[in-house]
Amino acid sequence: MDYLTDLWDDFISLLFPRLCYGCGSHLMRNENLICTECYVLIPRTNYHQVPDNPVARLFWGRSFIEKAAAFSFYNRGSRIRNMIHNLKYRGIREVGFELGRIYGSALRSSGFTSGIDLILPVPLHPSKIRKRGFNQSEIISDGISAATGLPVDVTILIRTGASDTQTRRSRFDRWTNVEGIFSVLDHEAIRGRHVLLVDDVITTGSTIESCANELLKTGDVKVSVVALAYAVY
Ligand SMILES: [Zn+2]
Repeated sequence: MDYLTDLWDDFISLLFPRLCYGCGSHLMRNENLICTECYVLIPRTNYHQVPDNPVARLFWGRSFIEKAAAFSFYNRGSRIRNMIHNLKYRGIREVGFELGRIYGSALRSSGFTSGIDLILPVPLHPSKIRKRGFNQSEIISDGISAATGLPVDVTILIRTGASDTQTRRSRFDRWTNVEGIFSVLDHEAIRGRHVLLVDDVITTGSTIESCANELLKTGDVKVSVVALAYAVY
């Protein structure tokens, strides 16, 4: 029977090939969403093991962030970039969840998440959620939650304004562009707690800075940050 099942699976995969979301190659029977090679070759930063790292340094003098890290480097043509594109622009939520889960288990085993109470995805503007159908940071957060057991909340921190497209803007412009577009609906839910902000890609850190500063206005709140990828300028 196993033989017949395998034969049937092979037949189905001829009709509907399962392709890797990182490199597009055919997946083996034991692989799911991303192939073993892509999994191994993800350019991991391991910043979660180094408190003084380039992502943490982005926020020096800008926002009081406890810990900050990113899973991988976001290089042109890199496999993780393809995976994130599949998540954001082709709506493949499973790949975002899976990457979040992989990163979450690394964060957990390194002790990065110890002391953290709650995950808050960086909110998208409602109009963008309507267009895309989902918030990619929320999908990634759900994956991190599955690996760490930390709860995710999407009601505390919301986005009130849309920012223009951020390309070709200076760092200062970007900052003024996202300042004041987030707001905290429930201060009591975060007071005395340590929250983990989750984003897909960190570039200048302006969006995170704006979120964090809004959260910190509550008082007696600790904010840490992780993203799936760090785009080096
Ligand atoms: Zn692959």
